[in-house]
Amino acid sequence: MLAPTDRYYQLAQSINQIQSLQRNLAKSFVTQQRGYFSLIEYLTIGVMVLDQDQKIYLSNHAMSELMEREMNLPGEIYANELRNYDLSRLIEKTYQTKKEQHAEIKLDFNNKIVDSHIVFVPVSHHHFLVMVLLYDITELKEIEQMQLDFVSNVSHELKTPITAITGFSETLLNGAADDPTALKEFLKIIHQESQKLTALVEDILSLARISANAELKTDQISLFPYLQEIIQTFKPEIDKKQIRIFNEVPPAFKIVVDYNKFRHVVNNLLQNAIKYNDPTGSVWLSSTQFSKTWEFKVRDNGWGIANDQRERIFERFYRIDTSRSKQTGGTGLGLSVVKEYVAAMGGTIKVTSQVGVGSEFTVTLPLIQKRKQDSGVKQA
Ligand code: ADP
Repeated sequence: MLAPTDRYYQLAQSINQIQSLQRNLAKSFVTQQRGYFSLIEYLTIGVMVLDQDQKIYLSNHAMSELMEREMNLPGEIYANELRNYDLSRLIEKTYQTKKEQHAEIKLDFNNKIVDSHIVFVPVSHHHFLVMVLLYDITELKEIEQMQLDFVSNVSHELKTPITAITGFSETLLNGAADDPTALKEFLKIIHQESQKLTALVEDILSLARISANAELKTDQISLFPYLQEIIQTFKPEIDKKQIRIFNEVPPAFKIVVDYNKFRHVVNNLLQNAIKYNDPTGSVWLSSTQFSKTWEFKVRDNGWGIANDQRERIFERFYRIDTSRSKQTGGTGLGLSVVKEYVAAMGGTIKVTSQVGVGSEFTVTLPLIQKRKQDSGVKQA
């Protein structure tokens, strides 16, 4: 230590200050660099930085995930490590043009679709980096495709009854109305087709409502009378086909459900059990309570569903292609709506069936406890 009177004392002090400043600067640089690396590492988009010599400088975890191999290989030539021709070409173009490139690329080895940005980053006059940013849009693309398929299916399904209505009404206007037999027959067809149209529009609206109205509005219901009321609404069909309905739910059984969503499920299952049944057929409705769930079953001794169709009946617009089924005038949307409603209620649906013997649809739902403020409700 120099004494304050020493002639180099001031100089030594300044050197000490500079040294400590330098140490602090180095420390904050390391901290910043660490923060920067961990930020890149935790990003959910794939990031790879390449240097001027086309070598990897750094690459994050998401990039290795997308490429399904380790990509954080500093010093390696990127083209030897990337297994996708389109992506390599896009990067190559950035090196050639010194301009940002953008494209949607399908990775052939895992069928993922990535939104790819290749950014040219000038660092100094003679020095630059190339940054590869990959955003996984596979799911978005799938949803987009499903929406397109849905719209084209809906248009196709709507067109069939509309074409029939237009065709038959034109024939009537062009003179067929003068023939009483044709008049009656054509009006009957027009009426049937307009009913189909109404059913289709109602089902489509139900589908739209599920996504828009995801929140559950639960209430405690007494299941037996609730079902009796729904059965009543089918009286015309039941009487016409002489179907026997057995409501086997215990009269005291109470349960907490979303009143409207569950009603929709029961409606559809009951309607199908009546529709895909022979005259004088039977339908049984039953329920069982378990510790955390409860089950609602709709069983019929109707036409049954073949093994290979059993999962497909829950798809939108899927109808079993038999002449008998076709005469029933359904939309093919009923069970897909049911499946979505059941899922919205946190449950599952399954079916067992045998052709010529009958079908049994089982809906399993969670037991919901009603909140305290909804008084007079027993715990489920
Ligand atoms: P829709 O009844 O409007 O055709 P759904 O989605 O409700 O549409 O049903 C799809 C298909 O599943 C029906 O076309 C029918 O062939 C078959 N299906 C549904 N429920 C039953 C059942 N209980 N018994 C026999 N077949 C059924």
